[in-house]
Amino acid sequence: MERARNRTVPGHAGIMDWWRWKPTPCPVHLRDKLKAVIEDRQYREARFLTRLGMAAAVLSLMVDVITMPDLVGQIALVRLGSVIPVQIAALAMPRSQLGWQKFLMGLSLSLFCLSLVYASSLAPAPADAFLAMGLVMMLGIAVPLLPLKAWELALFVIGTLLMAGLLMLLLNAQPAFLQIYFVILCLSSGGAMVLARRVRWLDRNTALMAIQAQEHAADLESSNARLTQLSMQDPLTNLANRRWAEVAFASNYAVTPEEAPGYTALLLLDLDHFKAFNDSWGHDIGDRCLVAVAEVMRHTTSTHGGLAARFGGEEFVVLMRVGSISDALRIAEDLRVGVERIEIESEAMGRTVSCTTSIGVAVHEAASPPSLSDMLKRADAALYEAKDAGRNRFKLAA
Ligand code: GH3
Ligand code: MG
Ligand code: MG
Repeated sequence: MERARNRTVPGHAGIMDWWRWKPTPCPVHLRDKLKAVIEDRQYREARFLTRLGMAAAVLSLMVDVITMPDLVGQIALVRLGSVIPVQIAALAMPRSQLGWQKFLMGLSLSLFCLSLVYASSLAPAPADAFLAMGLVMMLGIAVPLLPLKAWELALFVIGTLLMAGLLMLLLNAQPAFLQIYFVILCLSSGGAMVLARRVRWLDRNTALMAIQAQEHAADLESSNARLTQLSMQDPLTNLANRRWAEVAFASNYAVTPEEAPGYTALLLLDLDHFKAFNDSWGHDIGDRCLVAVAEVMRHTTSTHGGLAARFGGEEFVVLMRVGSISDALRIAEDLRVGVERIEIESEAMGRTVSCTTSIGVAVHEAASPPSLSDMLKRADAALYEAKDAGRNRFKLAA
């Protein structure tokens, strides 16, 4: 059970995974992104490794000073003269020339290897063996780190080994030693290539997982935003719902005249005889009427500022900051007239129908911060006065 679960974890290194050459499939829509991420990583790694190689080329001269002080001048000339210029050229390559950059990085490393072969052919024992070991170790460590694709890596290793073999033939020095040296070099490079393949596989999987994690996080964020919106919005009219209005009141409208200029006003609308309206014209026409009322309210709040919300059923609320009570009353009258002017086409009845609303207006003029429940209570009392007085009118709360 545990083993089966582990196998499903990407990047998990079971012993058999070392022989797994097939990369984890990348979803089609992420392929370009993965390619870009890997290439970006390769570019940065190639720059880093080239700089490291530069430091190694300079530092290796110290080893030469210790191992063969007599030849150090000649070797320094070969190494610094060939390796460093190629490394400088590799570092000068822009991001768009990744292929050339990687080629030059590989070439500089090959030249470094050749300089070691050359140095070991000149060096007396045991310094020659010391340098040979250095080359074997360097290739073994460098090959898995090189940010190259499998074929590029194969090209690098085969090219380096061929050039090293050719150089050994040309140098013709201590053939027995050089033959063994060459065989060990082939073996260590081959082993390092297997390791390199594994490291690249892990790199690719890590990049893929990072992209997928990013994608999931973005999906989660947008679905969270959507859920928040759904939980705060009335689905029929797309106005804010009661919950949103409560949150907005607490954060924007529970302020005193000292904290912000003006007063908080709450307008509570209740459509008149809406039950009868539904009964006469049908629920669909009732819904269309509610949407039209929402549009009138949206227009009012976009003109005067504030928040329009559907509190439930055929009750709506407008929250706003006003300069005076008369401003609030003027806006209530605009709303009343706006609703009165709504005309809904009833195809079934072959006529247009309209509705009216009564409005209770509460304005908080006290120095203390207003409370929503208190303002609602006052607006509700005023609304009932408006209903009692014959509907299609507004009343100011005491
Ligand atoms: P009043 O003038 O006193 O407010 O009378 P009213 O009939 O409007 O009041 P009442 O509270 O009795 O009825 C409210 C009606 O609103 C009842 C219900 O059918 C209607 N209503 C509530 N929500 C919706 C809705 O989403 N769509 C439609 N079409 N009607 C709704
Ligand atoms: Mg009602
Ligand atoms: Mg009503």
